[in-house]
Amino acid sequence: MLKLSQPNISEAAISAVADVLRSGQLVHGPEGEAFEKELAAYLDCRDVVLVSSGTAALHVALLALDIGPGDAVIVPDFTFPATANAVALTGARPVIVDVLPGTYTLDVARVERVVCEWQGPERLRAVMPVHEFGSMVDMPELLRLARTYGLVVVEDAACALGASLEGLMAGAWGDLACFSFHPRKTLTTGEGGAVSTNDAVLATRLRRLRNHGMERTDAGMRFIEPSTNYRLTNFQAALGRMQLQSLDAWIAQRRELARSYLERLTPLAQRGLLDLPLWSDGHSWQTFMVVLGDPLDRAGVVAALRDHGVEANLGAQSLSAIGIYAQAPDAPVQGPRLFSHGLALPLFEQMTTADVDHVVRALSDVLERAGC
Ligand SMILES: *Cc1c(COP(=O)(O)O)cnc(C)c1O
Repeated sequence: MLKLSQPNISEAAISAVADVLRSGQLVHGPEGEAFEKELAAYLDCRDVVLVSSGTAALHVALLALDIGPGDAVIVPDFTFPATANAVALTGARPVIVDVLPGTYTLDVARVERVVCEWQGPERLRAVMPVHEFGSMVDMPELLRLARTYGLVVVEDAACALGASLEGLMAGAWGDLACFSFHPRKTLTTGEGGAVSTNDAVLATRLRRLRNHGMERTDAGMRFIEPSTNYRLTNFQAALGRMQLQSLDAWIAQRRELARSYLERLTPLAQRGLLDLPLWSDGHSWQTFMVVLGDPLDRAGVVAALRDHGVEANLGAQSLSAIGIYAQAPDAPVQGPRLFSHGLALPLFEQMTTADVDHVVRALSDVLERAGC
């Protein structure tokens, strides 16, 4: 069975984790400090603060900005629900705005409309662009808008470590940016995450918030504000450091595979059987998702692909379609379609172009048999 994705853990990485376990220093250790510095250098950011998951990163980022009840935060319709859940957990209101077909990312023109027409009652404080699957949001345009209207920008780069736009990494654009190291992401520590920022004051606050609201002084522990425990372990950091050494090579491999998919699937796209994701040079291809045409039987396609030895699944959720958030002022159309018609295909760096051929042959066979 060709899996949708597969973590890439080397023997050297396993040894590095074992060394930390033998050392007895399981939390608050040198591996965490080194991983933070190495990630900051990789992103070209002032500070990186490790946390226990991508969701923890989003939550603590919003807390550091004092976002809470009475505030509203713009999120894209097509994403993993953690983006909006983190907003809701602070007591603020997620405001859902539609995405673009092809890039699957926030439609900045529609963000502008929602911002211009905003009538409250909440105060619009921030926007959270999601670089979905490693495809970057139009950040220059979004930043211009954010500056004009005084909005804070929190990048949800959970699945986009290593993506870039105009030579700047995902995570180096916003006031804060959040990453996930879940096994479904290209770099994994099991569970894990990080927040990056160029703001030293925010970095200090983030470090405090992930660690019980506590700061260490010469006099000992001082509890400054109530908070929670969102720390990453020292052995997870050791795993992350080993993975970071390979990340660029892995992304290069993923770009090759994505290119092969795009080439080989073009005939199916030309026949209107599916739509392809847009290529961009900085895309990090955490996931390769096509959008099936009508008539749609995605569950049938997924089952038939399984019979061909290919694992496939939906790509991400539509926040407006899952129905647990307040009605969007912007009535999303693209997000719900990507949610219902999206089909994520196997993509991980250990795959070969022969595997891509196999997937494409299987998909062609399945779509033809479905009488499309
Ligand atoms: C994976 C992901 C998250 C959640 O990260 P966890 O580490 O699983 O908590 C949030 N947002 C996006 C866009 C993601 O892809």
